[in-house]
Amino acid sequence: MSANLTIPVHGSRSVIGHSTRNLPIELIRFGMGPITSLLIGGVHGDEPEGFLFAERFVEDLQDGALSLPEDLSVFVVPRMNPDGCAVDRRTNARNVDLNRNLPTKDWTSDFTNPRYFPGLEAGSEVESAATVSLLEALKPGMIISLHSYEHAMINYNGDCLDLAKCMEKSNGLPPKSDIGYPTPGSLGTFAGWEREIPTITLEILRGQLPDDAYKQHARAVLDGLAFYVSQP
Ligand SMILES: [Zn+2]
Repeated sequence: MSANLTIPVHGSRSVIGHSTRNLPIELIRFGMGPITSLLIGGVHGDEPEGFLFAERFVEDLQDGALSLPEDLSVFVVPRMNPDGCAVDRRTNARNVDLNRNLPTKDWTSDFTNPRYFPGLEAGSEVESAATVSLLEALKPGMIISLHSYEHAMINYNGDCLDLAKCMEKSNGLPPKSDIGYPTPGSLGTFAGWEREIPTITLEILRGQLPDDAYKQHARAVLDGLAFYVSQP
């Protein structure tokens, strides 16, 4: 399945996999430029601040309210964990925290809180397999993953403090390389540290109203996605 992943053209969608409960995991593309960035929402299904943002961002790109630099292709997966998003649950339908299940070198089956259940094996979940094959197919130049947390921040993984600072100018959140606890199996570790893909985990303030979150972060996300267009 993953070998047949279809990369969409500008303005169109493809399905990059199916969730445990067989919901489609959708990928939407804007722009056909050579510089590729990836925006992900809804890894944690109880963080609507992230996936509602991603869906509105897609709408605004579709109807032209937002526009992109010419050299850019922006790929968006609004809901990487559609089963969790459908029922306001952090984990996927097998109770696995998808941001602890990616096959990182430091992956461990240890966990202390069931919220962070990493699964029985690294990369065991269909949603994780979809994530891994998507990264292999797109080879994005940077990634922003949208989450929410009581401590809003721009968590950056990989050599991308410059990118985080660019986003800080627009949204005022502090760039931090460390969220305060270890996250083996996370996208930041898998993509940012191990594959050297600049990776931002944007932690929107938990509970912020969707309109307010969008106002605070739309420009920051757009600037972040475009950041490497302006770099030598
Ligand atoms: Zn999260």
